[in-house]
Amino acid sequence: MAMTLREILTRAQADGVAIGHFNVSDLVLLKAVFAAARQLQVPVIVGASEAERAFVGVRQLAAWVRSLREEFDYPIFLNADHTHSLAGAVEAARAGFDSVVFDLSALPFAENLQQTQRAVETLRSISPAIIIEGEIGNIGSGSEIHDNVPASALDLTSVGDAKHFVESTGVDVLAPAVGSSHGMTRSVADGHARKHLDLARIRDIKAATNVFMTLHGASGTQDEDLTNSIRAGINIIHINTELRIAWKQGLLNGLARADHELAAYKILPAAVDSVQAVVSARLRLFTGRGQE
Ligand SMILES: [Zn+2]
Repeated sequence: MAMTLREILTRAQADGVAIGHFNVSDLVLLKAVFAAARQLQVPVIVGASEAERAFVGVRQLAAWVRSLREEFDYPIFLNADHTHSLAGAVEAARAGFDSVVFDLSALPFAENLQQTQRAVETLRSISPAIIIEGEIGNIGSGSEIHDNVPASALDLTSVGDAKHFVESTGVDVLAPAVGSSHGMTRSVADGHARKHLDLARIRDIKAATNVFMTLHGASGTQDEDLTNSIRAGINIIHINTELRIAWKQGLLNGLARADHELAAYKILPAAVDSVQAVVSARLRLFTGRGQE
């Protein structure tokens, strides 16, 4: 019997490593993430935002991931990333998702807290084992290339808010705003700049809440900041923009190389390889595996 996501998170925390979370919205991305994780023999989470789920289909995505888990007896888990409504969260829970990021962080704090509390009760009644993540502070939106640093990236989570939110809602996982943000600025995408994290804040929030913590919008963050964030208390790290860049570049390479080719299965492996290389490098960093 394979381990549950809760057991995997508990073990990762004890081992001082983090679980990589990678967004998928097609079979190329899913194949790449699974191949990279399997090669390193580390557990992995694939996630899909509401828009990504709408493209693949909620139940179809759940079936893909479940089929991999069952056929290979592998710890691959599925997360409903950034879910902004209870209806969307319920749909994912019923489809068999292992976790839900219930994200009402755009609402005033008190309202976010109250509605997240209600979502936790509802989701647990559907799936007692489901992992529920709440989000406070603001980490921007859109895993794209932005022209400017989002002003919201500066609105960091306070320790007091984090403690109050976790105790009141009963979430399993907290996503605080600690310096990373969704997407990348042009200079980060070009490699001229890196994102930096508020490590002391991560440590203080962890000490005050003692829950699992997720780092969102980690694409383009200094490697050393990421490994230090794991030591400070981060358990799950989300990478999306880096994958999107690799996916598009790999697809363009595949098309250019196979000028007279029409078969998808001959063109798309270049995109799988390109994404797999990024996932593999990130998993090595998060787990220390394969770096010796
Ligand atoms: Zn996110």
